Amino acid sequence: MLSVEQLTKIRRDLHRIPEFGYEEVKTQQYLLGQIAQFPQELLTIKKWKTGILVHVKGLDSSKTIGYRADIDGLPIVEQTSYTDFRSTHEGAMHACGHDLHMTIALGVLSYFAHQQPKYNQVFIFQPAEEGPGGAKPMLESPELIEWKPDKIMALHIAPEYPVGTIAIKTGLLFANTSELFITLKGKGGHAAYPHTANDMVVAASHLVTQLQTIVSRNVNPLDAGVVTIGVIKGGTKQNIIADTAVIEGTIRTRSIETMKLIKKRIEDLTKGMETGFDCSISIDYGANYCQVYNEESVTKDFIEYLKGQESVNLVICDEAMTGEDFGYFLEEIPGFMFWLGVDSKYGLHDARLEPNENAIGFAVQTIVDYLAK
Ligand SMILES: [Zn+2]
Ligand SMILES: [Zn+2]
Repeated sequence: MLSVEQLTKIRRDLHRIPEFGYEEVKTQQYLLGQIAQFPQELLTIKKWKTGILVHVKGLDSSKTIGYRADIDGLPIVEQTSYTDFRSTHEGAMHACGHDLHMTIALGVLSYFAHQQPKYNQVFIFQPAEEGPGGAKPMLESPELIEWKPDKIMALHIAPEYPVGTIAIKTGLLFANTSELFITLKGKGGHAAYPHTANDMVVAASHLVTQLQTIVSRNVNPLDAGVVTIGVIKGGTKQNIIADTAVIEGTIRTRSIETMKLIKKRIEDLTKGMETGFDCSISIDYGANYCQVYNEESVTKDFIEYLKGQESVNLVICDEAMTGEDFGYFLEEIPGFMFWLGVDSKYGLHDARLEPNENAIGFAVQTIVDYLAK
């Protein structure tokens, strides 16, 4: 089984080579190289695009337990204090902790490669969590269908909790999320002849304001939703009327129904804008992630187990408006995701995120003990 020192080295090696969704070529090679060093008797290994599936033969083949780790990095310029294991990929960083997720999965896998598990296991190294989304196509692939788990688990690092903390809840853990890209097309012209043009800067400004009314006026106040516009672009020069404007944002909701409601309102409002401003508007929802919903009985079993572990500081947390494409696995397979405390001042997707590496050994031990029980 991999030692704490080996795990730390693996995490640092992976931290050096962050790669974007479906470009995780070096990462895949590195992981395969590590797995090749484990005893191979119980293992069957398959590649899926830039991801990997590893099957571990159990003593009893009637059930299969899945464990998923995501493997991609983010387009962020690293600003950590690391000197000897900084990202060597310009403009890319493991700023969401997926380097730790992979390392922990390898640690658990190395244990069960040496020590045959009770039931079959499938370790899923999934590409493209940050986009365009690897979970859904992976679930639909023949590679995964052949080894489809009966239960599944995963973790995500949580900077806000100390090492030794596991935070979890039954039911909704992460929100439904959708990207939002709106393009408005009108007619450009000279700034001094507005009557001959159709200004998309004005139309986009109105639309951004109208979008604010969806959460405040359409979503039930006892429910919750987010419509954030993060980008508004239009025009080329101060004295030219813009023929095009683009609005980009994100939608977050606590239920699938509210996601549908918000999208319907966006479509209705844009239809009204088309008439009102005599322009054409197109909507693209980009990457959509379904909620992460922890199945009641499987999650309760894990929570009860953790209550008996002195080493674990168990927190029953609230749901968060963050998104995770692991939700697609949980739509089809009962299971859960939990937060793993890594004690960093800076949050997920922050260029300064420095997770405490002591969380790695703690996580491996806790997951191994749980799966071996
Ligand atoms: Zn992320
Ligand atoms: Zn993540």
